Amino acid sequence: MEQIGRHIAELHEALADSGAELVAVSKFHPVDALKEAYDAGQRIFGESRVQELLTKIPQMPADTRWHFIGHLQTNKVRSITGKTALIESVDSLRLLELIDREAERAGTVTRVLMQVHVAREETKTGFAPDELLDYFRTRGYESLRATHICGIMGMASNTDDQQRIIRDFQAIRDTFDTIRRMCPDLRGFDTVSMGMSGDWQTAVRCGSTLVRIGTAIFGPREY
Ligand SMILES: *Cc1c(COP(=O)(O)O)cnc(C)c1O
Repeated sequence: MEQIGRHIAELHEALADSGAELVAVSKFHPVDALKEAYDAGQRIFGESRVQELLTKIPQMPADTRWHFIGHLQTNKVRSITGKTALIESVDSLRLLELIDREAERAGTVTRVLMQVHVAREETKTGFAPDELLDYFRTRGYESLRATHICGIMGMASNTDDQQRIIRDFQAIRDTFDTIRRMCPDLRGFDTVSMGMSGDWQTAVRCGSTLVRIGTAIFGPREY
């Protein structure tokens, strides 16, 4: 367990020059492990299941910032509204609209990232880059009333092929840069979330501003 604190310190040190922030992906790990990371200075934690998030929130200090990083079912949006610092995994317009409606109803603003899909994998969660560009080109976000789109999130292919990983991260970063150029009026659109335990160094070199690391901090997950 004391390893967790050491891993956090090492990652903070390694990321300091890049300016990228660290999300400690704590899904499937017990609250004691999160506290260990908190005590080492970590404040942002990533969870992928609503029930687990809701169970952990009251057990952690109030200044813990929670990122939701998994597939969010529309019928669970209400239960996490007002509780997250960032929902990183908006993967459909239907979900985005619902997040917006619930945030407005609750009198809050929900910060989100749009999930972009570039990896060559069976599971295609998220928007294709072209779909995302269309959304921003047609200024779909102008109709949002209580949602702030802060950037995009993506994953590289799960492969050993380093060139493939670099191409995927570049595609994510390019999508982000194109949106920014296209929509200079989009304020606070500044986050590119990419990079996990196995590829975060590459992601940072490709322009990541937020890395999501689980295994390299907490060890393997027991599902
Ligand atoms: C689980 C998960 C991570 C962390 O993966 P590790 O390989 O354990 O670092 C990052 N991002 C998302 C979206 C995840 O679901």
